[in-house]
Amino acid sequence: MTSPDKTTPSDKLPPSNGAKSSTKSIDDMESTPGFVANDFWLESNEPTCKICFGGESDDPWMSPCRCSGSIKWVHAACLRKWLSMAPYNQREACSTCKYNYRKHWRLKALSNWTMPTLNLQFWDVVEICLDAYSTLKMFRGIWHMLQGKKSIVAQMCYFFFWRTFIFTERRILYYKSIACSMVTSFLELDVENAK
Ligand SMILES: [Zn+2]
Ligand SMILES: [Zn+2]
Repeated sequence: MTSPDKTTPSDKLPPSNGAKSSTKSIDDMESTPGFVANDFWLESNEPTCKICFGGESDDPWMSPCRCSGSIKWVHAACLRKWLSMAPYNQREACSTCKYNYRKHWRLKALSNWTMPTLNLQFWDVVEICLDAYSTLKMFRGIWHMLQGKKSIVAQMCYFFFWRTFIFTERRILYYKSIACSMVTSFLELDVENAK
């Protein structure tokens, strides 16, 4: 038996539990930018996913943010799933270390396209119709103002009303989340390892 030596090539590979180990995923990890095999080994012999608390699987490990220690690693699939379900403000950055995820959009395989889940209730539809009506009225008002059919003061008053009560931050977030769930029916976000 050889004594443990942090620099032997085998130590540079993340621990795997034999049967499940796949050369491909290990190669993926080794070629992943930001993957530091020695840190991996020094921190823990058994990395666990901070989302599912599971160990080695067929899914490659990722370290998408600057968290370290026991909360450094996630399975790529777990991260993808979490980002698709997370509250809107937690999709952009890690809630622990505040690191902004490095992301890019990628077209899903056609077989994975889904219908967007909007969960619209009756009052959501009413509110959307009112938003659309008042926004249309606002733009029509600007058009009439430019043509001299409406006074600038009246239009400014309407604009401030619209900005304060209709086009609020809450509504902007709501429409962003609708847009996001529509977009994610055929696109998926790929997160990269943190730099
Ligand atoms: Zn996991
Ligand atoms: Zn983090």
